[in-house]
Amino acid sequence: MAVNDLKAFFQSNPLMALFSDEELDECVKASEVVEFAAGVDIEKRGETHNSSWIVYDGEVGVSIPGEGVTEELLTKLEKGRIFGDMSVFTGNLVAFDFKTTQPSTLVRIPRPVFMGVVKKNPAATLQFTKNLTEIVFHLGLYQKEHEIREAAMLASPDPYDLYFTSASEPMKISVINCGSSSLKYTIFDTTQRDPLIEGTIERIGSADAHHKVVTPTSKKSVSLGAVPNMEKAFEFMVAAISDPAVGAVRDVREFKAVGHRVTHGGGLFNGPVIIDDQVLEQIRSVSDLAPLHNPYNIEGIELFRKLLPGAKQVAVFDNTFHQTIPPAAATYALPRRLCAEERIRRYGFHGTNHEYVALNAATFLKKPLSELKMITCHLGSGASVCAIDHGRSIDTSMGMTPLEGLVMGTRPGDVDPGVIFHLLRKGRSAEELENIFNKDSGLKGISGLTNDMRELLAAAENGDAHALNAISVFCYRIKKYIGAYTVALGGLDVVVFTGGIGENSPEIRARIFQGFEAFGMTIDHRINRDARPERGQVVDIAEPNAKVRVLLIPADEERMIARNTLHTVGLVRSEADIRVFKTTPIPLSISAHHIHLTQENFELLFGRGKAMTPKSPLSQPGQFAAEETVNLIGPKGNLEKVRILGPARKYSQLEISRTEQFKLGIDPPIRDSGDIEGTPGITVVGSQGQIHLEKGVICAKRHIHMSTDDALKFGLRDKDVVRVRKEGGRGLIFGDVLIRVDQNFRLDMHLDTDEGNAAEIKPGDTGYIESIEHRRYI
Ligand code: ADP
Repeated sequence: MAVNDLKAFFQSNPLMALFSDEELDECVKASEVVEFAAGVDIEKRGETHNSSWIVYDGEVGVSIPGEGVTEELLTKLEKGRIFGDMSVFTGNLVAFDFKTTQPSTLVRIPRPVFMGVVKKNPAATLQFTKNLTEIVFHLGLYQKEHEIREAAMLASPDPYDLYFTSASEPMKISVINCGSSSLKYTIFDTTQRDPLIEGTIERIGSADAHHKVVTPTSKKSVSLGAVPNMEKAFEFMVAAISDPAVGAVRDVREFKAVGHRVTHGGGLFNGPVIIDDQVLEQIRSVSDLAPLHNPYNIEGIELFRKLLPGAKQVAVFDNTFHQTIPPAAATYALPRRLCAEERIRRYGFHGTNHEYVALNAATFLKKPLSELKMITCHLGSGASVCAIDHGRSIDTSMGMTPLEGLVMGTRPGDVDPGVIFHLLRKGRSAEELENIFNKDSGLKGISGLTNDMRELLAAAENGDAHALNAISVFCYRIKKYIGAYTVALGGLDVVVFTGGIGENSPEIRARIFQGFEAFGMTIDHRINRDARPERGQVVDIAEPNAKVRVLLIPADEERMIARNTLHTVGLVRSEADIRVFKTTPIPLSISAHHIHLTQENFELLFGRGKAMTPKSPLSQPGQFAAEETVNLIGPKGNLEKVRILGPARKYSQLEISRTEQFKLGIDPPIRDSGDIEGTPGITVVGSQGQIHLEKGVICAKRHIHMSTDDALKFGLRDKDVVRVRKEGGRGLIFGDVLIRVDQNFRLDMHLDTDEGNAAEIKPGDTGYIESIEHRRYI
């Protein structure tokens, strides 16, 4: 069908009627009229949206996945309806399937043009937002959002945004890693898969510094002569990245964001942060915990702030991923006061790469990270293992410093601290010992040969007994940690190998896996021998039917820093958003222990055909505290008169506080409500019977319920993680607060009794959202 007057057609649309004459002309010029037969896919779930569409004639069906392969038709779009705008607006992947139901004529407007106009025109922006809200309400989409996002994830090649799929506009990001005598830099362009340039300047401070530069098409290595300091090294870096032959950037001022690798956050940060004077001071204040690293990281940050005062500088810490490690795993059994004064605890390191490979593993397995139990083994010249429970680090082998844990190239890992006192008594100085433990131990120390695993393997093959012993000690230590972490996780789905040795050495992997067969962990030795994953690839070396997948994933810390930088910059709120945060109080409620039951379990406890008796309504509409209570029998002690909250649910779940877990004698993990796979069970006693739940005991992750309306007002999304400030006498900032959005929810933050007591929360108290801490792409 011919389209005669596109401009008049656009004007008949309530949103586009708000466009100015020139804006309409711009849209007309960029538009394309396309004819489709019936049953043609226009946009598919999981794709990236690049266009807005308007139905000129015919009809487009909108559907989402139903049970199995059947699709659930949500609605039909007729003449004049715009679609595709939601994902165009949010930058998310397409959440629905759009398919013509009859021969149709559609008009396509490219995303940059359409959004450009909407963004420039305040009346259109407002109308656009109203349209979106309507769609959301009418289709009840928010209710289904979780399932839809999960389905989109399974369909998406980049659900965790490791390749910057969510970037709303093209952007160049620089990643900087400053050491005592080295500078590593990597430049990413969000529209391209490979970095534009990767450079390393080594031996800074000497007379023969060296510069290695790699681009997608070239590799070169040049001598720089004397490079006395970092400032001079920066000049070489700037020259290399703005070299017209490389074409990475024309001018370094193009960078809007710079991500700095910072070794130690000292427990002060829960994730990456935008650096301002205060943050810089905080990083400085914990430098004594990483004297060989943080001061150089700070120097790099200061130089970049001078070089690019307009760019956002982001600190991405090596250990914030491990902030979720529970006290049981983070505490050293030393005097409490001493630990508090000196900030002595287990912090862990390599967090950026542990998280990177975990996200990669979930992507490869097409499963949400939040459903996997994983052990990641980073085996390079430094080495650590991490236990990741449903996306959260719950233990890692490095401690307050990178000395603890595995045997490394030149560090010993776990050693009886008595050895140190013994050597001190024998007259060795602290500096001497620090040198021995950092530079002369580990593989190098045991073998007396080298810290290089390739050389050790060759020497062992030639019969060198010390080399063989070094390899055996290295592998045995890893095996021990994998065993321990499998138990800490209460099961295991995936083991990941990463780092120079982990990615490249089939011999080492095979040795580690000897003896694990009884636990369903078997590798295919042929695949293991032949696997050579390149950066960005994943290889599964487990036997096809093995219970546990074993993945090789090349490390890529730089990509993860760039991705976290992009997300952190994206979380900077406008002044208007911050005003909403500051002026909208959030009611704070303490959830005492309670239990949710399935109807079936309720009947087993209270008699066949019985239903819960509502006693009093809860803050969330439709939910109630029931008259009925249950008693709980734990391995150690009991809890009596635990309130049942109704209505009945699809699963039974008990939520208790940290203190109560001790009383019962069980150790439940911190989880989102409903995420009960692999959690401990408990015996529940009702008036008419007793049941044993196999699973379902959790410490609920603190969270805020909010309606879709509130979410729009705050500019927040379901599953965002925020910080909340409670002011007053024992004011506290709660980090790690999960946002839960549902159109039926009422604004309310839920804390458990321990958390409430810590901040002395009383009925009627409120808090304020301070900032967004974390936004999951999915
Ligand atoms: P870093 O922690 O310094 O980044 P890498 O991750 O590069 O270290 O790992 C360096 C280690 O990886 C060295 O011990 C090196 O011998 C080892 N390695 C690299 N390739 C192989 C290989 N093919 N087989 C065994 N070990 C290897």
